[in-house]
Amino acid sequence: MAERVIPLVDQRLTALRAALPADAITPNGLLADTRGRELRDLRISVTDRCNFRCSYCMPKEVFDKDHAYLPHASLLSFEEVTRLARQFLAHGVRKIRLTGGEPLLRKNIEILIGQLAQLRTVDGMPPELTLTTNGSLLARKARALRDAGLQRVTVSLDGLDDAVFRQMNDVDFPVAEVLEGIAAAREAGLGPIKVNMVVKRGTNEDQIVPMARHFRSSGIVLRFIEYMDVGATNGWRMDEVVPSAEVRSRIAAHFPLVQLDPSAPGETAERWGYADGEGEVGFISSVTQAFCGDCNRARLSTEGKLYLCLFAANGYDLRELLRGGASDAEIASALGHIWQGRTDRYSELRGTLGADAGAGGRRVEMSYIGG
Ligand code: SAM
Ligand code: SF4
Ligand code: SF4
Repeated sequence: MAERVIPLVDQRLTALRAALPADAITPNGLLADTRGRELRDLRISVTDRCNFRCSYCMPKEVFDKDHAYLPHASLLSFEEVTRLARQFLAHGVRKIRLTGGEPLLRKNIEILIGQLAQLRTVDGMPPELTLTTNGSLLARKARALRDAGLQRVTVSLDGLDDAVFRQMNDVDFPVAEVLEGIAAAREAGLGPIKVNMVVKRGTNEDQIVPMARHFRSSGIVLRFIEYMDVGATNGWRMDEVVPSAEVRSRIAAHFPLVQLDPSAPGETAERWGYADGEGEVGFISSVTQAFCGDCNRARLSTEGKLYLCLFAANGYDLRELLRGGASDAEIASALGHIWQGRTDRYSELRGTLGADAGAGGRRVEMSYIGG
């Protein structure tokens, strides 16, 4: 079937100003938005580049050799990321996830990890520090990442069959090397490891049961992600989404499942355990089951824009504050005002208003703000 690819509208150029209102907000770790949702989870994209071309994220036809990636000077430096992260933690963030693009392509990422590992939450604890990767460079880097202070990794893997996997990453990357990366991460102590599989109808449905079989009893939690209408280039269609309920029943036909309690508020995955006690699987159902009600995640783009929702059209320009000489107190106050004004709930609205509910069809790319 011919791929439907929609041309990229460059949202990186549009930004919202991060204002500095006169009524300053001093962080006390208790920040909440208009719907009472606290700020707990910060996802930081450290690069907009990737060595894969997953069709659901960076289709080759759009992200080709002529695609203009961000110039190095536009990226936040490690010092700038760390300075912002400190203010987010002061407002209550407990967990930091590095993502991308492919975060392991960012040169000297270990240095950033080392700096973030020194920070403290409002409770005086080190933040939970994790990273999402396609696993291609993990075999080489796992040990150094762990030594720098990374606690865990989540590895994306869309199938075990080599031909299916090579087709999904669209750069002919072999599955064996990702499996080696997962083994190296385990060896290095980067656990508990999670593996994320995006399921796309007609592409990798046949990998659901083999993946479940492979990772059950392994101590690794496999999570199935519904193919999302994120970004504006992947030509998303509802009929290519395999609902989590269907994935679950396909697995249960081979391995009976029982539902488990959520591990934390705002947890994106619904947890199910194998009835025979051989581990658990997760389902991230952002299309068929909205979970905006307790969404506590903020996303920082590679060039320092703050996005309040994965489906937002625009982000708030924090780099302008940083480079314009704002003090830490001013940055913290600006963050406070932005989060307090947050109303986003795209996944809840998708059902009633259609897939363009959030931003009139102009949405930021996943490779730019990370997952
Ligand atoms: N390159 C890294 C990786 O693939 O793990 C990190 C960035 S990637 C954007 C983060 C996550 O988003 C991956 O698990 C990927 O499978 C997921 N993702 C990307 N596009 C998606 C889409 N359209 N629907 C659902 N998940 C998607
Ligand atoms: Fe790259 Fe990750 Fe997007 Fe795949 S999902 S293209 S690995 S950023
Ligand atoms: Fe959070 Fe936006 Fe996703 Fe809702 S749609 S869960 S607000 S990121």
